[in-house]
Amino acid sequence: MRPAIVIVGAGPAGLAAAERLAEAGCAVSVLERMPTIGRRLLMAGRGGLNLTHSEPFDRFVTRYGAARSWLEPALRGFAPDDLRRWADGLGQPCFVGSSGRVFPLAMKASPLLRAWRARLDALGVRLLTRHDWTGWDEAGRVRFVGPQGDRPQGDGMRGEGTMPADAVLLALGGASRPRLGADGRWTALLEEAGIGVAPFRPANCGFVTNWSREFCDRFAGTPLRGIALMLDGVPDEGGAGEDARVRGEAVVTRRGLEGGAVYALSARLRERIARHGTARLMIDLRPDMACDAVAGRLARVRGRESLSNLLRKALRLPPVAVALLREGMPHGESPPRDAVALARLVKAVPVVATAPDSLERAISAAGGVRRAEIDARFMLRARPGVFVAGEMLDWEAPTGGYLLQACFATGHAAAGGVLDWLQEQGKGRYPSCP
Ligand SMILES: Cc1cc2nc3c(=O)[nH]c(=O)nc-3n(C[C@H](O)[C@H](O)[C@H](O)COP(=O)(O)OP(=O)(O)OC[C@H]3O[C@@H](n4cnc5c(N)ncnc54)[C@H](O)[C@@H]3O)c2cc1C
Repeated sequence: MRPAIVIVGAGPAGLAAAERLAEAGCAVSVLERMPTIGRRLLMAGRGGLNLTHSEPFDRFVTRYGAARSWLEPALRGFAPDDLRRWADGLGQPCFVGSSGRVFPLAMKASPLLRAWRARLDALGVRLLTRHDWTGWDEAGRVRFVGPQGDRPQGDGMRGEGTMPADAVLLALGGASRPRLGADGRWTALLEEAGIGVAPFRPANCGFVTNWSREFCDRFAGTPLRGIALMLDGVPDEGGAGEDARVRGEAVVTRRGLEGGAVYALSARLRERIARHGTARLMIDLRPDMACDAVAGRLARVRGRESLSNLLRKALRLPPVAVALLREGMPHGESPPRDAVALARLVKAVPVVATAPDSLERAISAAGGVRRAEIDARFMLRARPGVFVAGEMLDWEAPTGGYLLQACFATGHAAAGGVLDWLQEQGKGRYPSCP
């Protein structure tokens, strides 16, 4: 008899585990509460699907900050090059963008997910959508609510059902963007079973700022392109491999600021706010020019121009940037007219972040099943035979492909853990495990 494995969650971590376990000869069923699989992966595809990063591995692993020590074996076991080869094998070759980020040539997730699904079907993986995992029954069977529950014939009514399993692998995701399926409700089920879960916090998120309502109302949705963001002063606090100065883009929101450059600093901003109540960011509106050069350009503009005209003529700054300079001034004061003082402000507009934006809007979530709750095989110490993978574990990383890479890698590693454990239980021999 082939060992029966139930995987809960059809995101990248769960599906990666399903593939490895089915290839090893297990009978794999995947329960997914949503009507379709891989919704978050598809959403990531809207931004081009940044699968992983091409930087040297020694630098790559630093991006996981404090979680590096326990994630590294999994990341070595299924490394960025393995992920690229895997995508290639599904007919989705990748390229390296100018920032070192890796994307499939198609720049979207749907062809990859379609090919992946076909491969899983061919391996005999049962993908059971609209199946919501609800815990375990007294006999240790997996409990779910599904289209027909345990009733043999479907009558259109959802019902409760149970499923026996030789091992269970949970890949339930984090708690950001709950409409994509992962909403963190599973924490109650695990905490009931005595498993420690670190509270979820927004990661790769926007921030609420001290900007005036007029500024936010007028410029919400306006991008700030070609800027650099810096954390103000305070020595490095060891965020998840983040750089202290980031070039990129941000977008003004109704409540503050979001976008790629903000996300890159978000872990440290969030921690500083937690510690000090607020955190200060500096925006460099002309990162390609030294302060002297900015001052020189400002000084060369003749005549008594308005501030907006001066900044537009000298530096091609758009209205949002000019309004930002005004927001950056202490209450009631106008930006300086002196070229050197104005140049300094253009190179470092202060912004006070007062809170992270909501978890619902964040790209990912920090928090989840604590490291101490799992062993090196990703098995729950309190629940032998139950394994955990993906974003539901307590790690975080910046955007750049690090999130998906760790989800694939932990899915793969936890599947290896399942095989190792089955072998230990005398339920088969798996030569390549873990
Ligand atoms: C807008 C956006 C863009 C992103 N872009 C990128 C990117 O370019 N690169 C990158 O590296 N990362 C990106 N990410 C992050 C990445 O998508 C996630 O880190 C990754 O999908 C997490 O994978 P996972 O398998 O752990 O969880 P998920 O993909 O969230 O999958 C978990 C699954 O479990 C299911 N589930 C939850 N509870 C139950 C239950 N009780 N019963 C049954 N099923 C359940 C959910 O419905 C869900 O399908 C992006 C995220 C967002 C929101």
